[in-house]
Amino acid sequence: MSHPLSDRINSLPVSETLAMAAKARELRAEGKDIIGLSLGEPDFNTPDFIKDAAIEAIHQNYNSYSPVDGYMDLKEAICVKFKRDNNLIYKPNQVVVSTGAKQSIANVSQVLLNPGDEIILPTPYWVSYSAIATLCEATSIEVPSTIETNFKITPQQLEDVITPKTKMVFFNSPNNPSGIIYTEQEYRAFAAVLEKYPRIFILSDEIYEHINYGEKPFSFAAIENMYDRTITVNGLAKAFAMTGWRIGYIGAPEWIAKACTKMQGQITSGTNCIAQRAAITAVLAPVEKIQYMVDEFKTRRDIMVGLLREIDGFKVNVPEGAFYVFPDVSAFFGKIIDGYQIQNAGDFSMFLLEKANVATVSGEAFGAANCIRLSYAASESQIREAIKRIKMVVN
Ligand code: GLU
Repeated sequence: MSHPLSDRINSLPVSETLAMAAKARELRAEGKDIIGLSLGEPDFNTPDFIKDAAIEAIHQNYNSYSPVDGYMDLKEAICVKFKRDNNLIYKPNQVVVSTGAKQSIANVSQVLLNPGDEIILPTPYWVSYSAIATLCEATSIEVPSTIETNFKITPQQLEDVITPKTKMVFFNSPNNPSGIIYTEQEYRAFAAVLEKYPRIFILSDEIYEHINYGEKPFSFAAIENMYDRTITVNGLAKAFAMTGWRIGYIGAPEWIAKACTKMQGQITSGTNCIAQRAAITAVLAPVEKIQYMVDEFKTRRDIMVGLLREIDGFKVNVPEGAFYVFPDVSAFFGKIIDGYQIQNAGDFSMFLLEKANVATVSGEAFGAANCIRLSYAASESQIREAIKRIKMVVN
């Protein structure tokens, strides 16, 4: 039976990352021993010093609505963080705190995009960018990359897809799902192109900023003539193991911040007050306090990359940040393994779920049809067991 749902929701794809995680949960509830490598979620606990700040906030009776754009002292702390880590000068009235970086991105998209506008998405890209654009009735223009180019696009490719309808470009470095990091030099080359098109805005999603293994990520807004056109998105979920706390934020031109506050004021109001109080402690903490998690992610990355490279048919690049490996598995397309016909990455991902009990996400969801994504935000023993199972079923 079809229900009278709006065209808006009918046009929206399900979030593949969340759908795969839900499927894994379901199978586990049926008693299957599923290893979940689908969701980008640190398996660490939120550090105690952040939890303590939240508990204190509860005892101090933080229970009322907060200002829609976030507490002033949190926004001030975020400005300190932007200066310290990103060499970006923002004033509190340029900062909006939201219920996760996802809401930050949705706010920005809703206040900037009109129906018919185009957004440029270097592929692979995080699943929800294109879905959010669809909600805004904007069109996503994908710029392809492959494992051979280390999942990076060139300035020429960027320029080739710019049209009079282009409104925004989405950059995400360190990248989910490929783990690549654009260097300052590479970002400056994109800026040299964008300089010619002053009406285009740049959304720079820096949520994986602290999870890097060498090259320190560079903030796009730190390029002098890009600052007024760039919205810097960040949040606490990944670096501080605070996915469920839902704290994201932007630094942006004041008029954009103001519009996002207006949007948020009609949809969710200010985000959770306890989480905001704890966020002050988190953003002001020296980065060294979370280094143990980054070190652990690096060890796991090396293990996962090494083990996957031992499997025939897996092409694997070395991610420089975030916590995903994004192998090209196109060598398996057109094959029948154990009676299972594999035509594409979606089939391969389902094959791994059903035959190896390992949950991954198909690259199609990220605009990269030859790949699958495996998260190594899981324990070392789970990673070893998962890859062992994968190796067994594909052989
Ligand atoms: N961003 C994470 C991921 O890509 C969490 C799930 C989501 O919101 O998509 O797995």
